[in-house]
Amino acid sequence: MSRYLSEKYSSLVPYTPGEQPKDRVFIKLNTNESPFPPSPKAITAAKAESERLELYSDPDCTVLVNALSKYLGINETEVICTNGSDEALNFCFMAYCDNDRPAVFADITYGFYPVFADVNHIPTRIIPLKQDFSIEPSDYYHADGTVFIANPNAPTSIALTLNQVEQIVLNNPENVVVIDEAYVDFGAESTIKLIHRYPNLIVIQTFSKSRSMAGARLGFAVGNASLIADLNAIRFSTNPYNVNRMTLAAGAGALADEEYTKGNCAAICAIRDRTVQALRARGFILSDSKTNFIFAKHPSVSGNDLYIKLRERGILVRHFSNPMISDYNRITVGSEEQMDTFMKVIDDILEEII
Ligand SMILES: *Cc1c(COP(=O)(O)O)cnc(C)c1O
Repeated sequence: MSRYLSEKYSSLVPYTPGEQPKDRVFIKLNTNESPFPPSPKAITAAKAESERLELYSDPDCTVLVNALSKYLGINETEVICTNGSDEALNFCFMAYCDNDRPAVFADITYGFYPVFADVNHIPTRIIPLKQDFSIEPSDYYHADGTVFIANPNAPTSIALTLNQVEQIVLNNPENVVVIDEAYVDFGAESTIKLIHRYPNLIVIQTFSKSRSMAGARLGFAVGNASLIADLNAIRFSTNPYNVNRMTLAAGAGALADEEYTKGNCAAICAIRDRTVQALRARGFILSDSKTNFIFAKHPSVSGNDLYIKLRERGILVRHFSNPMISDYNRITVGSEEQMDTFMKVIDDILEEII
């Protein structure tokens, strides 16, 4: 870092994204991307829009706000579009946390939460998961801070039920509760249906995973109109053109092709469930996943060794050095062909070890 960097960032520890190697071709099961391309409707719409890049994008994101509000059965004033859901999350840290209102989240969850707290100089209150990596809802009642919950949680792949989330929201009338539903389309129930009942609830979703648009950077937040107005005030104070023209068009195209998204999610869930069975048959320990990834450990090989052995054989998964989960790897569910290769490589590795 240079000597010019503001002191307020001198101890910042930035988020570490999953590897995107350029030196060799890997089977990438490390960043929870979709193995399928975006909807043809998204691609066509983005291509057409690419010819109008001399113009700024629509700061009101009108086409997409309209499409989302119809799709979700909510008002246009109850949704905001963002540059990936990461931006929506950051806006929530900025809007609803301060010295007297810490960010409250689990000890094992999305690794960006502590970074958002850090960069915004927000104190945190960290709540341990239970032994089985599940969240105890009552730990979050009357949280005395702004609650951030990934549901399903990452990297554990475990989901709370709609009723459990509702209890957390209901028992925090004095606090904002942010539910990060990045993986909700792979088997959990969305909390969006509760936004008209609770003025303290914000739900965040992304086009990165179930809609195969990680590279487009598109997310959105849904909630009571006054909460969305808060987030828009922050957006217009930082980056009013936060969603580019091609992405706006692609997002509307993707929403118009829900059949395609549903088909892909069903395919991924089926491949996931087969892979879970195959891994269990080989002695892996893992929870039932409600996401497009599997969080697994094996009693005979350390998480880091397995990560390295897979990497040597051309397969990338995500390993976390945090000692609480260092026995595990997070494995993205890829295509059928990718997962067949993955299981063959797993068999080779286990044969070598045992
Ligand atoms: C992937 C992910 C996100 C961020 O996705 P964007 O690409 O920024 O939309 C947010 N939360 C969780 C838990 C994620 O895994």
